[in-house]
Amino acid sequence: MNCKESLRKIYEFLDGDLEKVSSAEIEVHINCCRHCWDRFEFEKQLKTLIKKSCCKEICPDTLRKRIEALLDKY
Ligand SMILES: [Zn+2]
Repeated sequence: MNCKESLRKIYEFLDGDLEKVSSAEIEVHINCCRHCWDRFEFEKQLKTLIKKSCCKEICPDTLRKRIEALLDKY
C-alpha cells in the first residue's frame, strides 16, 4: 500500500466501508507513515465535528471556526 492508495481509501476506512483485509492494510500503512497518519487524524476529527454538529446544537459559526483551526494546522 502506498500513500496515494491509502489516502484514496481513508474515507471508506473512516466510514467502515472497507472489507477487513483492506482495513488491516490501511492501518498498517497509517501506523508507519506520518503523512497519512496526520491526514487520517485530521479526517477523523473533522468527521467527529460534523457528526457532533448533526446530533447536538452547535452554532454553525463555532463549528466553522473549529474546522478552520484544524485546517490551519495542515
Ligand atoms: Zn502514506
